[in-house]
Amino acid sequence: MRVQPLARILAFGDELILGRTVDTNSAWLAGLLGDHGFRVDRLQVVGDRQDECEAALRSAVAGAALVVTTGGLGPTDDDRTRYALAAVMDVPLVHDAAAWRVVSAFWRRLGRGAPPASNRRQALMPRGATVLDNDRGTAAGMLARIGACQVACLPGVPHEMQAMAARLGTRLARLVPGLVVPSVGEIHLAGLGESTAQELIGGLMSERDPQVGITASELGHLCLRVVGGRTEVARRLTALRRLVAPYVLPAPGLAASLIATLEKLGATVAIAESCTVGLVTAQLGAVPGASCVLREALVAYHAEVKTRRLGVAPGLIARAGVVSAEVAQAMAEGISHRTGADLALATTGIAGPDGGDVSTPVGTVWLAACWRGQTVTRLTSLKGTRERIQRRAAAQALGLGWEVVSGRLGACRG
Ligand code: ATP
Ligand code: MG
Repeated sequence: MRVQPLARILAFGDELILGRTVDTNSAWLAGLLGDHGFRVDRLQVVGDRQDECEAALRSAVAGAALVVTTGGLGPTDDDRTRYALAAVMDVPLVHDAAAWRVVSAFWRRLGRGAPPASNRRQALMPRGATVLDNDRGTAAGMLARIGACQVACLPGVPHEMQAMAARLGTRLARLVPGLVVPSVGEIHLAGLGESTAQELIGGLMSERDPQVGITASELGHLCLRVVGGRTEVARRLTALRRLVAPYVLPAPGLAASLIATLEKLGATVAIAESCTVGLVTAQLGAVPGASCVLREALVAYHAEVKTRRLGVAPGLIARAGVVSAEVAQAMAEGISHRTGADLALATTGIAGPDGGDVSTPVGTVWLAACWRGQTVTRLTSLKGTRERIQRRAAAQALGLGWEVVSGRLGACRG
């Protein structure tokens, strides 16, 4: 098997080791570098002490082809990355005109005139390092070489870091000898658990070339990811697709799949939400293109609103209970009637932490989907925090909607 160049990631910042900020930069960068063909073998969080930054950098460059750092490029005293890099390179810091242009351009864009003197230290670069442009903030990045290792220092602010890393990504093949960008293919699945997926694809999971991985999304779908050479990836995707055919989603995720399917059918959707308080709508609205299919949504939290706005009979609520298949069905049919949408989705349940009882415990959620006059309901029992129950219930409502409009209802198992 081909030897992949090694990459390491260092996240600098006291807020990270104190647990006040979650180090999302390293995870994001690990994904990016993996997609570019690196084997990432270390993600390390280091505080703002310069001696510790230096020690981590010295250790990381040994044997690696690329080290990427984030954070510590700001103008304040605790921003030590440039000093640590200069020390490990064993060169002085010098004023860099290109870095100063990045700082000045940002201040100009803000309409604030010339930057204050404290920002001048953001134009200090280790001699021999080159500037990585920042089009979103004042912190220019730095690219340098220590022995055989390229070192890229990026800002801590995630969206600035990501924009800079994406630009750096296009240059990596020229900077790192032997780097081969692998092919990456994905198959998105719903309606089955991870273990069922593993059973279905059997031995293909354990092969290394191409590599097959399963990840479960927080929003209730699975992703099979295949990484390797172009021909092997294409061949493996075809074999996998055959094994998991009944569960394959047409797009990445339940919301995106529902939108794609509705769009193909020229159909629309409306939503009536109780316990999910708008999350079904938010998950749908987060997908680009939602405006083609999403007609209207209503949060009908109070029983009186379910009656007044959706026509759910008070007698039905009293008889069946507000968390019931009957009320979910009446909510879906009510919003369908009111809006004329082809598909109507509804949720009613108990998100907790209080409010449950023996017959209807916390986590009980009834979902309904009314598709062109026909309604199906589904009971789901979720565990966890209020936030998790609401989020998962919303995703399951979208999943039910997708099963109904794609004619998959009944084809899936958990
Ligand atoms: P600047 O971009 O102003 O130069 P910087 O490079 O010094 O800043 P920091 O001051 O360390 O970056 O962090 C800026 C912001 O980015 C903070 O809100 C911090 O919480 C966030 N941040 C820093 N590192 C990370 C990380 N590894 N993951 C997620 N967020 C981070
Ligand atoms: Mg910092």
